[in-house]
Amino acid sequence: MVITRFAPSPTGDPHIGNIRSALFAYLFAKTNSEYGEFLLRIEDTDRARHNEKSVEVIKYALEWLDIYPANLHKPMVQSERLPIYKEVALKLVKEEKAYVCNCSKERLEQVRENQKAKKLPPMYDKHCRNLNLPLEDGCVMRMKIPENRKIELDDLVRGHVEFDSKTIDDQIILKSDGFPTYHLAHVVDDDAMKITHVIRAEEWLSSTPKHILLNEMLGYKTPLYAHLPVILSPAGGKLSKRDGAVGILEYKKMGYLPEALINFMILLGWSPKDESEILIDQDEYALKFNRTAFLPGEFKLEYVNKAPAVFDIKKLNHFNEIFLKNKTVGQLKDLVSDYGNFEVSTSEAELLKRGGFITLVEMADYISKLRQTPEYEPEMLVFKKSTPANTKIGLSAVSTRLSELNSWDETEIQKIFGGVVSENSLSNGDVFWPVRVALSGEEKSPSPIELLLALGKEESNKRIKKALELL
Ligand code: GLU
Repeated sequence: MVITRFAPSPTGDPHIGNIRSALFAYLFAKTNSEYGEFLLRIEDTDRARHNEKSVEVIKYALEWLDIYPANLHKPMVQSERLPIYKEVALKLVKEEKAYVCNCSKERLEQVRENQKAKKLPPMYDKHCRNLNLPLEDGCVMRMKIPENRKIELDDLVRGHVEFDSKTIDDQIILKSDGFPTYHLAHVVDDDAMKITHVIRAEEWLSSTPKHILLNEMLGYKTPLYAHLPVILSPAGGKLSKRDGAVGILEYKKMGYLPEALINFMILLGWSPKDESEILIDQDEYALKFNRTAFLPGEFKLEYVNKAPAVFDIKKLNHFNEIFLKNKTVGQLKDLVSDYGNFEVSTSEAELLKRGGFITLVEMADYISKLRQTPEYEPEMLVFKKSTPANTKIGLSAVSTRLSELNSWDETEIQKIFGGVVSENSLSNGDVFWPVRVALSGEEKSPSPIELLLALGKEESNKRIKKALELL
């Protein structure tokens, strides 16, 4: 049975890179094994960077995206397990696989300075390694990295990687505040949670030999590792806020759909063999986001790219536009009403269904703007092939008939336009154009009939009358 996990550190809002790790771990568990399980663990051992709100944001983001860990509401939390890590660390000391170190900050700084001067990589000089110091306040515990060892890793993404123990620091496993470091805690917890596959960002690859050694020292079954490629900006550099390295929930605020983000994130490092880009079945998504429906057994870690992934917001926009366009009028009505915090009508949602919107923000703004009395230059009311006189005839005939219309429906409205054109020997431009401008104040907009339906009788008549006054 496959068991994967997402193990965020609550030090701020999770960003795309963090959530991509969660998503890949989720997809791997859910699409490759019938009984696969995906779990959450909160790695809050860094007290200085701890952010209380962050845990809630992480859970909310996972829920919103439906990357649902089985233990979402009761995740493993490292700060609740301190005695366990301490016991493990003490056991390692007892077995001489770790040691107590009481080097002062000043001494360590001095060592680092000397190494820097000699252009050597910064490493602990193993001063306390064989001193058998007792554990006292202010001391730390360090791993005793074995000498002359080659540590081998068969990474599921990166392939075979070897590390020389000479290059590995005697890593601190328990800090002076009694908290474990990430290195010790996550190894202990991955074992406790029976994690089979550790799927995480590439930044952890260089620490993996320490983790392999810790597993060995503790007699655990070492999990398999998969290190996901880094995510770069379109220019090839580190992702900045401007490129989109913002908290994942910012995308919700910006009006992106969860399925568009999921689709986008899957492609940050993975691609289907047939190169198709739309990977999510929206009907399934709407019913229940069952990802096995769109990736039947296809999500293999071997297919994850080694090369860096490129974050291109244009792609996300493209997916969001498509997914919005695929929504039904009813879904758009609900989505935009929720999003904009005002009730959108079905005929307004019909205007949205025409497409051309990238985000829910654009949709909500469009409706808000539509509801405001438009401002325009009176000359705009006259179509370029028309005259003010004909425009007036057309507009006032439409105005009179619309005011008398009882059933505000498409067929009846259409009949009025047809009648006004033929009975007054006008062209379509003499009639449709001014009504459209009167209603929208724009040179380009949906047809007057769609606008009339969206705005309703009262508001439409008011706008047309105002236009007649302007003419
Ligand atoms: N807490 C680590 C992080 O947030 C987890 C790394 C791992 O998955 O092992 O990056």
